[in-house]
Amino acid sequence: MTDLSKLTIAGARDAMRKGDVSSAELTESYLKSIEGAGALNAFVHHTPDIAMDQAKAADARIKAGDAPDMCGIPLGIKDLFCTKGVASQAASGILEGFKPEYESTVTTQLFDAGSVMLGKLNMDEFAMGSSNETSVYGNAVNPWKVDAELTPGGSSGGSASAVAADLCLGATGTDTGGSIRQPAAFTGTTGIKPTYGRVSRWGVVAFASSLDQAGPMTKDVRDSAIMLEAMCGHDPKDSTSADIAVPNFEAALTGDIKGKVIGIPKEYHMDGMPEEIEKLWKDGTAMLKDAGAEIRDISLPHTKYALPAYYVIAPAEASSNLARYDGVRFGHRAKLEAGDGITEMYEKTRAEGFGAEVQRRVMVGTYVLSAGFYDAYYNRARKVRALIKQDFDKVYASGVDAILTPATPSSAFALGAMKDADPIQMYLNDVFTVTVNLAGLPGIAVPAGLDKNGLPLGLQLIGRPWEEGDLLNVAYALEQAAGFVAKPAKWW
Ligand code: GLN
Repeated sequence: MTDLSKLTIAGARDAMRKGDVSSAELTESYLKSIEGAGALNAFVHHTPDIAMDQAKAADARIKAGDAPDMCGIPLGIKDLFCTKGVASQAASGILEGFKPEYESTVTTQLFDAGSVMLGKLNMDEFAMGSSNETSVYGNAVNPWKVDAELTPGGSSGGSASAVAADLCLGATGTDTGGSIRQPAAFTGTTGIKPTYGRVSRWGVVAFASSLDQAGPMTKDVRDSAIMLEAMCGHDPKDSTSADIAVPNFEAALTGDIKGKVIGIPKEYHMDGMPEEIEKLWKDGTAMLKDAGAEIRDISLPHTKYALPAYYVIAPAEASSNLARYDGVRFGHRAKLEAGDGITEMYEKTRAEGFGAEVQRRVMVGTYVLSAGFYDAYYNRARKVRALIKQDFDKVYASGVDAILTPATPSSAFALGAMKDADPIQMYLNDVFTVTVNLAGLPGIAVPAGLDKNGLPLGLQLIGRPWEEGDLLNVAYALEQAAGFVAKPAKWW
């Protein structure tokens, strides 16, 4: 019998349709793997009963012969997605006990397609972080290990860890500044952030609404194509959701990239970037060239302002979005003392419920939006954002089809390594990814090599807006050329 944990989404779909395996069998096997993987702390809420019910319903649909591609596929769902009647805490203490009355559009679409929810996945609190260490549940752990335990990245660290450790066939992630792509790169998995507006944000706990996008995290590019298609589509409940047809992304995977123009942006050569990242980038460039693409040097001159602009805009939006957590409507409320009024209730609840990084962002965001500093910070950051977008527009208008960069400036680092570091050290993780969110573009991380310690390294491809099919196809060609097959040795 095939090892069920080694299947991909595509493989499981085909095997279920042939009758070689049922969704119930698959689901049972994954639930068992999750039980044995407590050390990874990837799954933070377990939903085995829901999973088995969904799996049985999926098996009936598959038998009836009308099953969509994602039917019967066991998934993990990031804790940022509201799932009806199931704890949805955004890894925050302030949402303790919150069980939504409604289902997010993304999970609704996945469940309508017959997918199975195994449970909710760990993440950084309110998706703020790059290491999963700001989670109220404690950090998830990377299944890849050298000596010390490593971060799976963040904020979608639980999603990345679960997919890399074969605890599910795919997982939902969200990406505001890199939270799908950086954890994918740190765990040897694939993750795509689609064009802003492609996937509905309805029912996804908001971090920075003009940047947030959900996307799939999977074992390979084909699986990302299949799962992304099921997540996409116009949603009248999200005013920023685009009414644009969703193509068959899997059908775009021909592997033929002859004549495609791939841009290599000179500004992404950062000072002090490790030799092995430079080498990976060069190797990736050569692979695309060998596959028939034309390589072109390009310039994205405002790149160096992206991180500072992001760390003004994202906290500004977050401070506004998080104002709703006041102890009245959701989750946690502090115990009050005699004489406390409503102000004390807000203050105590928010001081207890939010972790340190979230409090930092709320304070920075409130400051940059305050009357005296609005123009100096927030408005200036918005102008910079427009210039960053213009850089990309110009490059695409000149005929470039996709842009190749490293996904992260390093491989996964040790848990705790940044404990005493300046927060900016942690923010630097996003140096290659935030530009893509600021410009609203699609970006994908693909595992492309190993570092000197045998840890995975990822490359990022950035595509034209709404051209996820093309982007996935270039990623597919890169994946085939890179031939990344390494898996972490099981220690958990
Ligand atoms: N690491 C970035 C941050 O902390 C990005 C997070 C994300 O994409 N959700 O803001």
